[in-house]
Amino acid sequence: MDPQLTATITLTLALLTVTLGYSAACWIWPFKACRKCDGTGKRRSPSGRAFRLCRRCDGTGRRLRAGRWIYNRLNGIRRDAR
Ligand SMILES: [Zn+2]
Repeated sequence: MDPQLTATITLTLALLTVTLGYSAACWIWPFKACRKCDGTGKRRSPSGRAFRLCRRCDGTGRRLRAGRWIYNRLNGIRRDAR
């Protein structure tokens, strides 16, 4: 077989495996901890005693992962198309 073709197939398979693995991970674990508040949902004042809800995650402490966000978007588009 053409070595370039073999390399292309190997690369495609590797990419596919990574993509599928990432999709599966986003399906099982759709959230990641908010980076702004480290998943606590709170933003502490400099004194450390007062706090307010984190604006980035609305106090939930979780952020939707990029892969799941895209999946939700695509699902929404499909639902609208019906
Ligand atoms: Zn947050």
